[in-house]
Amino acid sequence: MNVMLSSPSTLAPDVASSQPILDIGDVTLQYTARHLSILATYKVSAQVFEADRFVLLGPSGCGKSTLLKAIGGFHKPSEGEIRLRGRKVTEPGPDRMMVFQEFDQLLPWKTVIQNVIFPLIESGKAKTRKEAEERARHYLDKVNLTKFADNYPHMLSGGMKQRVAIARGMAMEPDILLMDEPFAALDALTRVKMQDELLELWDDTHFTVLFVTHSIAEAIKIGNRILLLSPHPGQVKAELNGLCRADAAGPKGKAFERDIHDMLFAHKASDEVRHHG
Ligand code: ADP
Ligand code: MG
Repeated sequence: MNVMLSSPSTLAPDVASSQPILDIGDVTLQYTARHLSILATYKVSAQVFEADRFVLLGPSGCGKSTLLKAIGGFHKPSEGEIRLRGRKVTEPGPDRMMVFQEFDQLLPWKTVIQNVIFPLIESGKAKTRKEAEERARHYLDKVNLTKFADNYPHMLSGGMKQRVAIARGMAMEPDILLMDEPFAALDALTRVKMQDELLELWDDTHFTVLFVTHSIAEAIKIGNRILLLSPHPGQVKAELNGLCRADAAGPKGKAFERDIHDMLFAHKASDEVRHHG
């Protein structure tokens, strides 16, 4: 594997040439409660390109969810700005779909297919009910839930509910799919299965995804690029480009995992360039 660990400001040559889908520029995010202000991220910058599987990796509390909410348009940066296809993000929109960790993100009174159809109709992404239904069936099929289209969420396992949330997000064909630790609450076996399925889906459609995790192994498995954030407040420690999927499961993946661990928990931010041969 030829992995390049570069300083935050340096992009791999293959990504530097095209326009980013998502441009996060020096974004500082904070929460203010009465006279207290809590810094969640500090001057985070990153660019996500078409068909990237971009992973945001950092320990709990480093501001990953807050950053995702800001990209979603739910949280305003106190410094810096976020641009989607060149337009400044100021509010939520159907061009960014979220998949959360919690299993209760579906509408419990709607069936599986109705859950997928609902945002398609509401947003106007599908012009007719028939078009919405066809699109919903197409994506439910991609996540292997065709047989469960008419079931209600409470009849499904956690993994199946997450598949519905993924189908719902993908059916909207957003510019970017935002996934906040979508598999973290699943049992270990289901988690591995869902990771494999997500990669198969990506092979099929090459969608652009920003995937948040605190698991180094998951980051290496899912990402073609990884942004490493320091513990609270989240600052960019390193950007890892050109990750090779074929190596993720082998000894090189394990060595790489150890390197990331050392970088995350080292006192000094790493800005060196290393090559794994
Ligand atoms: P992560 O997703 O990486 O675990 P979060 O984005 O949830 O981190 O949180 C980042 C920091 O912001 C933490 O210190 C957390 O305590 C704080 N925080 C998160 N949500 C709120 C909130 N609603 N009000 C105040 N502080 C918050
Ligand atoms: Mg979080």
